[in-house]
Amino acid sequence: MSVLAILDQQDGLWHRLSLETLAAAKQLAAAMNVPVSAAVLGDPPTGLGGGLHRVWAVRHDLLGRYTPDAFASAAEQLIRHAAPGIVLLPHTYQVRDFAPKLATRFGTTLISDCTGFRMDAGGPVFVRQLFQGKLNADVRPSGPGPFFASIQAGAFRAEEGVAGESPVEEFAPSLDAAAIRTKPGEPFREAERAVDLTAADIIVSVGRGIREKDNIAIVEELAKALGAELAASRPICDNGWLPMERQVGSSGQTVAPKLYIAVGISGAIQHLVGMKGAKTIVAINKDPDAPIFEVADYGIAGDLFEVVPALVEAVRKVRP
Ligand SMILES: Cc1cc2nc3c(=O)[nH]c(=O)nc-3n(C[C@H](O)[C@H](O)[C@H](O)COP(=O)(O)OP(=O)(O)OC[C@H]3O[C@@H](n4cnc5c(N)ncnc54)[C@H](O)[C@@H]3O)c2cc1C
Repeated sequence: MSVLAILDQQDGLWHRLSLETLAAAKQLAAAMNVPVSAAVLGDPPTGLGGGLHRVWAVRHDLLGRYTPDAFASAAEQLIRHAAPGIVLLPHTYQVRDFAPKLATRFGTTLISDCTGFRMDAGGPVFVRQLFQGKLNADVRPSGPGPFFASIQAGAFRAEEGVAGESPVEEFAPSLDAAAIRTKPGEPFREAERAVDLTAADIIVSVGRGIREKDNIAIVEELAKALGAELAASRPICDNGWLPMERQVGSSGQTVAPKLYIAVGISGAIQHLVGMKGAKTIVAINKDPDAPIFEVADYGIAGDLFEVVPALVEAVRKVRP
């Protein structure tokens, strides 16, 4: 029995979620008292640190560009060779694409988007959220294994690796070009980000409670008064009221400022995963039962159209 983390890389760099998944794999392996290995399809970037039983470098010409057929087949062969009991993967778009197919090849299913695990007498139990985070479900894998689970962004904190490097072992799967049914095109490249929210000390973030685009100026005033970056929940960016690069959450940026002020944001799980690492969270929401208050250090249950201008005035008194 061992734990294997199959990690994603992009252009020779680890995907942030890969390092969080590795942290999850290490914690799970420690709880089960079994060794932990990592694997990557292609050349492994450095930086995983020591302490891993092995880092598998799965190499083949047909793995240069992602295709679900080649990745599922290569991962299947590695898993049959390395025989782990549990396989963890980061819940990236790519993993969502090929991991269910991979799990099916072992007669099992992928336990997707897990936020945690716990151990009980029967072994590991994975926790995943249902109904937009309103319920937590415990999922106990059953059968001979291996078991497959993907890890939600922000659920585990990427750890500093143990000093040193872990031994790298090559694995060459046998892949047949004729069995690959998709032809990859040019990979999508994100435009250079003009705003780096990850470097901001203070972020003021606006949500759908703002009602319309023109009202965003009210929240922008608060950001200006505090010397903060302006950010938003997804509906604001989807509406084109602020650029996508200001979106915080699972499909936006992950931020960890000293102060995060959420204005008219309900606190959906996809938003929380992007900002719950902030040192101090202040929430302004007219609904006292809004889930954002569960992660907030300070909460103001009130109408943002009254609270925000009052805050701007108060801040300007101490920071003219
Ligand atoms: C695959 C996927 C990825 C996603 N990725 C992201 C992501 O990266 N980031 C993200 O944010 N979301 C993301 N979402 C969307 C997410 O599920 C929520 O729909 C979204 O976060 C809700 O945004 P909101 O809180 O601004 O709006 P709502 O949920 O509509 O909340 C608005 C809040 O404003 C409050 N309010 C209304 N009027 C006032 C007022 N006058 N004063 C004070 N408060 C008021 C209300 O009480 C309410 O709590 C994703 C969803 C999916 C399915």
